[in-house]
Amino acid sequence: MQSTRAPYDAIIVGVGTSGGFLAKSLTEAGVRCLAVEAGRHFNRGTYPTKEVDANALLYWGGGIELNHDASIGLLRARVVGGGSIVNQALMDRFDDDALDSWRDTSGVDFFSTAAMAPWYEKAEASICLQEIPAEYRNRNAEIFRAGFEDNGYEWAPLRRAQRDCRFADGNDCIACLWGCRIDSKQSTNVTMVPKALAAGLDLVPQFEADTVRETADGVEVTGKHADGRQETFSARRLILASGAIGNTKLLLRSGFGERLPALGHNFYSHPQYMELGLYSEPVDAHRGPMQSLKSADAGFRRSGFKLENVYAPPAAIAMLVPGFGRAHQRHMRRLSHFACIEVCVRDTHPGHIRMGRKGAFTIEKSLDAEDRARRDRGLAAIHNIFLSTGAKEIISGSIAISLHLMGGCNMGVDPKRSVVSPEFRVHGTRHIYSADSSTFPNAPGINPALTIMALSLRAAEQILAEART
Ligand SMILES: Cc1cc2nc3c(=O)[nH]c(=O)nc-3n(C[C@H](O)[C@H](O)[C@H](O)COP(=O)(O)OP(=O)(O)OC[C@H]3O[C@@H](n4cnc5c(N)ncnc54)[C@H](O)[C@@H]3O)c2cc1C
Repeated sequence: MQSTRAPYDAIIVGVGTSGGFLAKSLTEAGVRCLAVEAGRHFNRGTYPTKEVDANALLYWGGGIELNHDASIGLLRARVVGGGSIVNQALMDRFDDDALDSWRDTSGVDFFSTAAMAPWYEKAEASICLQEIPAEYRNRNAEIFRAGFEDNGYEWAPLRRAQRDCRFADGNDCIACLWGCRIDSKQSTNVTMVPKALAAGLDLVPQFEADTVRETADGVEVTGKHADGRQETFSARRLILASGAIGNTKLLLRSGFGERLPALGHNFYSHPQYMELGLYSEPVDAHRGPMQSLKSADAGFRRSGFKLENVYAPPAAIAMLVPGFGRAHQRHMRRLSHFACIEVCVRDTHPGHIRMGRKGAFTIEKSLDAEDRARRDRGLAAIHNIFLSTGAKEIISGSIAISLHLMGGCNMGVDPKRSVVSPEFRVHGTRHIYSADSSTFPNAPGINPALTIMALSLRAAEQILAEART
C-alpha cells in the first residue's frame, strides 16, 4: 500500500551506527527525514534483562546467523541503535596500514589518516570517550596484562564510548551487551536518535524494508510492519544504513545485482576465536568493566591479528564450550574460574553474500590458508599468556564468532569492482547513498564503529551539498 504520508526529502533504512549519525546530521540541517528500522525501539527502562530474551529481541536470527557451513556465527543487531546498542563500544581510529590498504584497493583518495582526521575529530567530539581507570580492572584484565608482560607483548588501555559506568557502585558491564540501562554507553539511541527526533525525524521501528526502487524523481521503499501490513514510502533520496548484510540483501532483492557485478562480494567479518583459560582461583571475568585493555603489539598487527580481553554471558559461553552432557556440564560448573582472550583475525579472504533462485540468502565465508595462519599465530600467543600466568587447562571455543560485518557494497571508483562511489552514491543511481559498514573495501583489523561514524558524517555533508544544488 502506498503510504498516505507526504513524500520525504530522505528515507534512511536502518537506524544503527551509521543511520543514527545520518539521521541526526540531516534532520538538524532541515532535511525532512523518515527512518525505518526492522528492530524495536527500547530505552534504558525497557531493554531486556535476561540473556535469552536479549538474543531473541535484539538480534537477527534469534541471536545468531550462520555462514554456509556453520563454522562462523554472525552477530547482527536488530534494534533502534543497531550494533551500537549491543557492542562493546571500543573506539579506535584506523591506522596508515588500514587506510592505505583501503586506498590501494578502492582508488578513493580520502582514505588516508590525514584526510580522515577531521571526520574522526568530529565523530569523537560527538560522543563521550573514556579509558577504564586501573583500579577497576577485573582479574581477567590483570591476567591479560601479566601474560602480555611475561611474554614481551605490548598492551594498552582501551578507549570506550561511555559516560559514567558507575564502577564504584559495583556495576557489572556485561549486562550492557543487552542495552545499557544507565545510558552510559554512547549508543546512537542515546547520542543521536533523541536529537534527530527533537529536530523532526519521523522514526518507524519494526518496519523491515523488502525492496527499494529509483523512480524518475526520487526513490520508493517497500516493506512490512511487524503486523504484516505492507507500506511503500517515497522520498527524494534514499540512504542505505542497514549494515553489510542488510544493504546487500536489500539491493540484491531489488534487482541491482545485474548492473552491479561487485554487489555481495568483498564481505569480511574479522572472525574471532575465543579461548578460555581455567584457573584454580575464581577469575569472575563477568565482574566490573568487561574489557579494559587491548593488544597494541606491532608484531601482532604485522601478523594479521589482535587479541581481545573479553567475556560473554552464560548462554553464549555454553554455546562456545565444546562437548555434550557431563563433559559440557563440567565446563559450565567452572564458569567463574575462566579467564578469556580471543583472537580477532584481520581476514584477507573475502566472503560472498549470495541470493539463491528462490530468494534465500547464503553467506559464503571461510578462512583460507593465510587467514588460518593468522588465527593460529594469535592462538599461540593466547596459549603463551595463559601458560605463563598459571592456567590449569585451556578450552577452545567450538566455532568462530563474527561481530564486525563489513563489505558487500564496497566503496571504489570502478563500478565494475565496487558498489558505492567516493561520493557515497550507489554506482549508476542518482539518489541512493550509503556510508555504513557495507561500504568497507576490505578488513581493517581494527574496530570499525568510529570509522563508520566518521564516514557517515562525511556522507551527510556530501548529501547536504548535493541537496542545496
Ligand atoms: C556484540 C558486538 C560487539 C561489538 N563491539 C564493537 C566494538 O567494541 N567496537 C566497534 O568498533 N565495533 C563493535 N561491534 C561492531 C559494530 O557495532 C558494527 O560494526 C556497527 O554497529 C555497524 O554499523 P552499521 O551502521 O553499519 O550497522 P548496524 O549498526 O548493524 O545497523 C544496521 C541497522 O539496520 C537494520 N536493518 C537491517 N536490515 C533492515 C531492513 N531490511 N529494514 C529495516 N532495517 C534494517 C538493523 O536492524 C540494524 O539496526 C560489535 C558488534 C557486536 C554485535
